[in-house]
Amino acid sequence: MDNKQILWGIDLGGTKIEGVVLAYGDQPKVIERHRIPTEKEKGYHHIIDRIAILIDEISNKTGMLPERLGIGTPGFCVQETGLMKNCNTTSLIGQPLPKDLEQKLGIPVFIENDANCFALAEAVLGVVRSSMKNARMVFGVILGTGVGGGLVFDKKVWQGRQGIAGEWGHNFLDESGGNCYCGKTGCVETVLCGPALEKFYKDHTGKYLKLSEIHQRSKTGNDPAAKQTIDRLTREFAKAIAYVINILDPDAIVIGGGVGNIDDLYSKCPELLREYVFNDKVETRLLKPELGDSAGVLGAALLGL
Ligand SMILES: [Zn+2]
Repeated sequence: MDNKQILWGIDLGGTKIEGVVLAYGDQPKVIERHRIPTEKEKGYHHIIDRIAILIDEISNKTGMLPERLGIGTPGFCVQETGLMKNCNTTSLIGQPLPKDLEQKLGIPVFIENDANCFALAEAVLGVVRSSMKNARMVFGVILGTGVGGGLVFDKKVWQGRQGIAGEWGHNFLDESGGNCYCGKTGCVETVLCGPALEKFYKDHTGKYLKLSEIHQRSKTGNDPAAKQTIDRLTREFAKAIAYVINILDPDAIVIGGGVGNIDDLYSKCPELLREYVFNDKVETRLLKPELGDSAGVLGAALLGL
């Protein structure tokens, strides 16, 4: 028997707010999906109103009402204070978003950052579900203009004592990365984010190219700097992720973000990992995400599980 749970999720972004109603069970199904502009320039209380409007519009379409609500957004909610932190929609910073929304909507609200929602969605509904059995721990990596990550254990986001579980982007990796905005040097992010790799190529050639073009050129065999850039990506990624594997030994690592589209990560890193992981074989699967843009909003809905 398929006991369906109806889950509501919101992906709160700077330009749009997207909502989903998901029937979760053996055969999960999206019942409704709808988005409206955030209008963030009108301030914090306006954003709260916009979320309520979106819920109303979805309720009218589906004839359903949420019993609880998951929200995914860049930034996170500090557990002790209930206040938002590190949000790129800056009017949210320092505000008690979960409490204010619970008051406005009259239901429990769960908030997680978008990397955690990505990891949860790919673990429960995406590539891990479709390609593996019995994967209990999944590490979801965002490798894009920044580097972040989220940890999922038994279909739940593992937040950690301070809410920073999965934030491997600011582990030390290599001095050559230089200064990081976080105040340290040589963070994973300074070596592996898209702009850092593009800068590496530019420093060697004097030419700016997008990472996707550098990747294309690396395959032609006549651009040594392009090959060097992609080799740097695969080797340093293997080194950086080996620290995670040696500590958590997850079943799978899902690599999201623009840099995650570089196929060398999946073809070359398994071999490279053998040099860095403390075992004679590496069974950790490196997986390409399947849900695309939908991961954020679906992960938010799954917070209600
Ligand atoms: Zn850093």
